[in-house]
Amino acid sequence: MNDKPGLIMCVCTGKCPGFEKMDVWDFINRVRVELPVEYGFIHPQLCEEDGDRFLADMLQSRRKLIVAGCAPNMQIKMFRDAFADAGMDIKTDLVPLDVRDMTLEQAFEKVEKALETMGVSADE
Ligand code: SF4
Repeated sequence: MNDKPGLIMCVCTGKCPGFEKMDVWDFINRVRVELPVEYGFIHPQLCEEDGDRFLADMLQSRRKLIVAGCAPNMQIKMFRDAFADAGMDIKTDLVPLDVRDMTLEQAFEKVEKALETMGVSADE
């Protein structure tokens, strides 16, 4: 498995007030350009049926994923089956970050810290 995780920002359809404090496009562009992630992108609603199908395809790569979106316990509940079906361990292969009601700077720092905790650096 490649060491750099992918990062998905899930924006809850794009209409959720929880993401109104930041420009999600500026956030994802800063993350993918400035932080050591393999890639970063925005998904509209990961916990819907098409999100399940998307995750099933995505996890074929067996790459760790950071999901910036709602509460970790909600993410773990919603994505447990997809990770199990892909033979991945949700406890170690998913890094769920709650970035609701955060400014871009706060969310960016949260991702930066998570990458540090994972031991991922820009040199890899
Ligand atoms: S996974 Fe979380 S952030 Fe994404 S659509 Fe579902 S509830 Fe919203």
